Amino acid sequence: MRRKLTERPMRRCIGCRQSLPQDTLMRFTLRDGEIIADRDQRNDGRGFYLCRDRSCLEKAIKGKAFNRILRSAVDTEKIMRVAEEALNSN
Ligand SMILES: [Zn+2]
Repeated sequence: MRRKLTERPMRRCIGCRQSLPQDTLMRFTLRDGEIIADRDQRNDGRGFYLCRDRSCLEKAIKGKAFNRILRSAVDTEKIMRVAEEALNSN
């Protein structure tokens, strides 16, 4: 299936805060209090997007973006680990 560029849904990276095509970003969701990499982008629930870029991950952590978005205190080390894993798998 081919989609026009203009039809690609845009999502905002919580690190650099740029709106980018959803399929260029990594999605993470909170499930049972745990952050998981949502590879198929199908999980319901609270989630966020990040560029496939370590500097965006670092910005998000420094800015405490996760706590704001997920509305709960989160273990940033856990997020780091999950996000790094997702980064490395691409
Ligand atoms: Zn970014």
